[in-house]
Amino acid sequence: MTETVLFDRAALLDTVAGTLLPGQRVLVRGNEIDAVGPDVEAPDGARVVDLEGRTLMPGLVDCHVHVNAHSADLGGIADDSPAYVAATAAIELRAMLHRGFTTVRDTGGADFGIADAVAEGLIEGPRIFFGGKALSQTGGHVDMRPRGRQVSDSHQCCPSMGLVCDGVDGVRKAAREQLRTGAHHVKIMLSGGVASPTDRIDSTQFAIEEIRAIVDEAEAANRYVTGHAYTARAINRGLEAGVRSIEHGNLLDESSTELFLRHNAFLVPTLVTYRQMAREGAEFGLSAANLAKNTTVLDAGLRALETAHRAGVAICYGSDLLGGMRRHQLQEFTIRGAVIPAADVIRSATVTAARLLGEEGRIGQITPGARADLLVVDGNPLADLAVLTDPEHRLHLIMQGGNVKADRLGAFSRA
Ligand code: ZN
Ligand code: ZN
Repeated sequence: MTETVLFDRAALLDTVAGTLLPGQRVLVRGNEIDAVGPDVEAPDGARVVDLEGRTLMPGLVDCHVHVNAHSADLGGIADDSPAYVAATAAIELRAMLHRGFTTVRDTGGADFGIADAVAEGLIEGPRIFFGGKALSQTGGHVDMRPRGRQVSDSHQCCPSMGLVCDGVDGVRKAAREQLRTGAHHVKIMLSGGVASPTDRIDSTQFAIEEIRAIVDEAEAANRYVTGHAYTARAINRGLEAGVRSIEHGNLLDESSTELFLRHNAFLVPTLVTYRQMAREGAEFGLSAANLAKNTTVLDAGLRALETAHRAGVAICYGSDLLGGMRRHQLQEFTIRGAVIPAADVIRSATVTAARLLGEEGRIGQITPGARADLLVVDGNPLADLAVLTDPEHRLHLIMQGGNVKADRLGAFSRA
């Protein structure tokens, strides 16, 4: 249930300008922001919420999550019951929302069912931009078979993160299968990864013709392709073939940043997952062989972020945490804040993320016509990103699409 709400005496975080404006009023009607400014009047019957100078900011967007990854043993999840996986996803989605994420993009695993369940209010959580199953070649990053196993069950209803497909016809069909379910993007594997059993980090995956065929299918549906890649070699061949965003990008170089700019592509670093896998991956199901691969990309990740930022690449927030490590979702703010300005880190989780999702002006900023996804926090995140990383003590109010999801101020319990 939504009502008309006027937030008064707000310090408004302008994510576009990167400034904090005191003494602002924000009027919410239904699911949307109706008016913003110091002199906005409260309509008859509106609830007036005095923020007493606290910061009002847009809800956060995480552009790289796996809501189904209740374990870091991604191969094992494929053998679970879909009902069990959905139950674990419901718990994690609620936790994500209460960390301040009102929107997430799932880059492998989430389907239309879980996205609809959130949209219909059956499950509390961030709205989900899903891609269905991530596509990879035989022996690629979602091929979870150990070397000695020949068969694999690629049924669409297995709760696996991805789908193995080969050849131009095979990848076209696989892309169409995701798109017919309403996928917002098609996720593909352009290189090896950490949590897969038989590929190398420095491999390239899919032939150029296969990548082009998937891009072709996505663009025909007015969707886009996002690709998992580490090395400059893998990143560059993806960007040249029309891939619109690159996930991770830990080993990119100047040749890559030039291509990002030329193609208006996005980079979604996910540094926190490598830090946490190094710290507690073993505890949460990652094998020793996977942990060895992790060290290769961990150290390079921060340098890649600096290189991309310096070049002016559009950068989005991503966490990519698996299993019990997902509780560190907000720590990506801390890690990035050490090398790039706070305003840019905040943009990555708001306005820039909105551009990637095709939701510019709808999410990621407080402006008339945007969805009423709002957070009230204590302190100025532009001066100290720690304001965002301690939701238990500093996140006082969560509104999503005009609905109040958390209210530590008690503002909505009063008559
Ligand atoms: Zn990945
Ligand atoms: Zn991922």
